Amino acid sequence: MADQLILIIEDNERNLKLVRDVLQFSGFRTAEARTAEDGLALASASPPDLVLLDLQLPGIDGMEAFRQLRGSPPTAAIPVVAVTALAMKDDRERVLRAGFDGYLEKPISVRALPDQVRAFLTAAELPDDR
Ligand SMILES: [Mg+2]
Repeated sequence: MADQLILIIEDNERNLKLVRDVLQFSGFRTAEARTAEDGLALASASPPDLVLLDLQLPGIDGMEAFRQLRGSPPTAAIPVVAVTALAMKDDRERVLRAGFDGYLEKPISVRALPDQVRAFLTAAELPDDR
């Protein structure tokens, strides 16, 4: 379990490093991409156990990247968690309605993140109705 691979798709260098360091310290393997395009390629080449997907990205945004992940057989079943700094209070609803497996709000909590990721992974292992 501790060697599960988490793909972080995030264009903000500070956030990317923070999430990567926290997850690696907690025993996860990580892969990283700074654009959706790179993230989609990585996810297809070596499917991770979970994707943390920033919604605000240059080029293809997170929502579109999510649609492409779900629409492609090699990546369709990978759990995807939206990471967003959007402040609108219906964002969470919008993201979950789109079919994301979860939602993390920035700023990321260094203390909470490892348990949050474990919870998303555990939930993804349960039989679901997707
Ligand atoms: Mg961003």
